[in-house]
Amino acid sequence: MNVPFLNLKAQYDTIGREVDQSIREVLSSCSFSGGPFVERFEAEFAHYCGCCCAVGVGSGTEALWLALLGLGVTAGDEVITAPNSFIATAEAISLCGAAPVFVDVDEDSYTMDPTSVEAAITSRTKAIIPVHLFGQMADMDPILDIANRHGIAVVEDACQAHGATYKGRRAGSLGVAGCFSFYPGKNLGAYGEAGCVVTSSPELAEQIRMRRDHGQARKYYHRMIGINGRMDGMQGAVLSTKLKYLDAWNEARRTHAAEYDRLLAGISPLTTPVEMSYGRHVYHIYAVRVPKRVLVMSALAAKGISCGVHYPVPIHLQDAYLSRGEKGRYPVTERCAEELLSLPMFPELTGEQIGYVAEQLKELTAEG
Ligand SMILES: *Cc1c(COP(=O)(O)O)cnc(C)c1O
Repeated sequence: MNVPFLNLKAQYDTIGREVDQSIREVLSSCSFSGGPFVERFEAEFAHYCGCCCAVGVGSGTEALWLALLGLGVTAGDEVITAPNSFIATAEAISLCGAAPVFVDVDEDSYTMDPTSVEAAITSRTKAIIPVHLFGQMADMDPILDIANRHGIAVVEDACQAHGATYKGRRAGSLGVAGCFSFYPGKNLGAYGEAGCVVTSSPELAEQIRMRRDHGQARKYYHRMIGINGRMDGMQGAVLSTKLKYLDAWNEARRTHAAEYDRLLAGISPLTTPVEMSYGRHVYHIYAVRVPKRVLVMSALAAKGISCGVHYPVPIHLQDAYLSRGEKGRYPVTERCAEELLSLPMFPELTGEQIGYVAEQLKELTAEG
């Protein structure tokens, strides 16, 4: 049996007609860059997240970068984040001229360990970016508490957590800003590149809106240095169409995760993901921990099962950041990089496929 890691075609097959229609509307109105389709999506997504404002941008990386710039993060500043993430989180900090300061992650949730945050704060700390990794939110209350006591902004990297909740509140709505990616493989994916910042501060939204459009408040009158960070009209239209299905897709992911959990329970060297009691996991990634991951992964591939690794090299050990000399500083993160294996996970996965993956994985781990 063949089980792909991800199957975007299966999803397109279920909504293709509606998507095609929405793209035709953009084509016939020629609203290609920004415009009414982006504005409609911004209103819908802000409402979905429980925020007043959303600003559509070109990618999740731009969302993070523009949010930090909007908060005034600049050269000489420090921003605390987790090294167990996609590089874009740290990159956005570096692109502001600021320095990422890493703290290790929690053993169960793989997200920022709140107990390490306070010690990382200095007089130069401007913001904290918890990453809601794999679809599960970081433990926000203690992080927000520390940030409030020190007068530091919290920006959520919610690029993997569309629709996840923390004590009933949606990802993106707890910090001063929440940053989303709509990269095609994300839980809410565009048909191209796109991203978005949600916020409950109209002033911050206005800053970001200006900066994504070359710092102009009015055409050709530039108040500040910005970038071209606008969202495409077509992506706005596709995202509006797809947003209606997000909750159902997340629910399907949760059902699949529960089935994996059930089938993989009690296989001794294997650890299944932990859903923390404070929130609702949306399983962007379903990652298990296995010793000898490389062997397991290639053996599964030989059986037709494609897996992923998120991420093989933690950010502090990437060549781009290696000069920091931090090897060994974040042991949980480094262990995650060696042991985490992401199993096939997408809403259209079938029970038969899940059963096959679990069965093969069971056999392999039992053999050692
Ligand atoms: C995908 C992702 C990003 C970057 O989003 P892009 O749209 O690819 O720029 C940032 N952070 C995390 C955690 C991500 O998963």
